[in-house]
Amino acid sequence: MTSRRLDREIARVVDGGLCSGCGACCQLDPAVTMELDGEGYSRPCRSHPSASTEREDRALARQFRSVCPGVVVRAPAPPGSVRHPTMGPALGVWEAWAADEDIRHRGSSGGVLTALAGWLVEEGEAAYVIGAGADADDPRRTVSVRIMSRDEALAASGSRYAPVSTAAAVGALDPAAAVVGKPCEASALRSLASARGGAEPLILSFFCAGTPSQHATDALVGSLGAPVDTRLESLRYRGNGWPGDFTARTTRGEQVTMSYDESWGRHLGPTVQWRCKVCVDGVGESSDVSAGDFWRTDARGYPVFVEGAGVSALIARTPRGLDVVRRAVEAGVLVARPVDIDAIAAVQPLQRTRRETLLGRLVGAALAGRRSPRYRGFGLLGLALGRPRDAIRTARGTRARVRRLSR
Ligand SMILES: Cc1cc2nc3c(=O)[nH]c(=O)nc-3n(C[C@H](O)[C@H](O)[C@H](O)COP(=O)(O)OP(=O)(O)OC[C@H]3O[C@@H](n4cnc5c(N)ncnc54)[C@H](O)[C@@H]3O)c2cc1C
Ligand code: SF4
Repeated sequence: MTSRRLDREIARVVDGGLCSGCGACCQLDPAVTMELDGEGYSRPCRSHPSASTEREDRALARQFRSVCPGVVVRAPAPPGSVRHPTMGPALGVWEAWAADEDIRHRGSSGGVLTALAGWLVEEGEAAYVIGAGADADDPRRTVSVRIMSRDEALAASGSRYAPVSTAAAVGALDPAAAVVGKPCEASALRSLASARGGAEPLILSFFCAGTPSQHATDALVGSLGAPVDTRLESLRYRGNGWPGDFTARTTRGEQVTMSYDESWGRHLGPTVQWRCKVCVDGVGESSDVSAGDFWRTDARGYPVFVEGAGVSALIARTPRGLDVVRRAVEAGVLVARPVDIDAIAAVQPLQRTRRETLLGRLVGAALAGRRSPRYRGFGLLGLALGRPRDAIRTARGTRARVRRLSR
């Protein structure tokens, strides 16, 4: 029997351009899998008819509506946390990096997520960690990976600016596991895990400006001199320095590179999917621990991408996350110095501005006839009232852009 209601709910999100590609719906029905669509984004597809009954189908559709980040995202309020208007709940805030120099160098910013992943599995604190890495057969593609050792954590280090659906991974809800995922994946997994009751996996997340199309990676590698029929040995988007270069190496030993600033700014960033442009949470609020770049900035507060030793902004969001960070520091895995959370907001102009003006974008999209997810508890009205002119300008700009795109 087909899972009609669940399919209709998923289609509503996908057709409305609100799917983030997180993959959480695959946890509800194993007959739903994630595939790249024609535009190069990861989207749910039914691979074979579902075995669920009418009653089960209704229950699955209900669950979907409460976990899918294309339908709803709720601001969490973990016990003991203090909420920052743009950086979310926090119990501890640091600038941090991996004590292991190799991990720090290979990591995206300070290598803290890689260091934590390696430590959690080596110490037996997590049976495995689910992360994302290059597909061994075709490194142009990004796949979810199961990390069982420090070396495997190191192999999965670095941000990958391409679609991957971590919340779809087998074992992503296993309480014995830890998961590293984008904020939308953290939110969906948290909702799913808490709806099921009992213990939850440890959820690590990172600051995220959105998922670009796979086509952007393919086109970028091609424009650098390695067209699609050239076999690649490796592809990294950054890391190996901070921020480090976009680097692809062919199996013939040739290497092509482009700076982070240019690869993200000109090629990858402009192809970010629509759902990410109206995202309320780019800072991983639903995680136990989240990390971002603790950028150095110019006089106007904009990040400067001068190569240096990586430094992460690290936020413990739950008592469990605080305990993990403290013990990782005590064990000599992380080096961490407490900082004021405002110092992090100050070096993350994109995340700050995006949330402060999001209400304007949502209103603009609505005026142009586009639906948005429901966002609960993020204080968007208060933030917009703090910047009324920007909110109005954003609303007008979004309405015009969406109308232009729909013609
Ligand atoms: C799509 C995307 C957008 C980003 N936008 C921002 C931003 O706006 N501001 C900012 O400060 N930083 C951004 N980052 C970078 C991110 O914040 C850094 O990875 C973070 O600082 C953690 O650094 P680290 O050195 O601890 O990470 P690492 O030690 O390098 O570990 C990175 C971890 O993330 C996992 N991972 C990598 N790519 C993905 C992916 N696409 N989906 C799921 N898991 C993945 C890896 O498996 C690894 O476990 C973005 C990263 C991505 C992938
Ligand atoms: S946002 Fe996630 S849960 Fe919702 S339809 Fe897309 S992949 Fe499925």
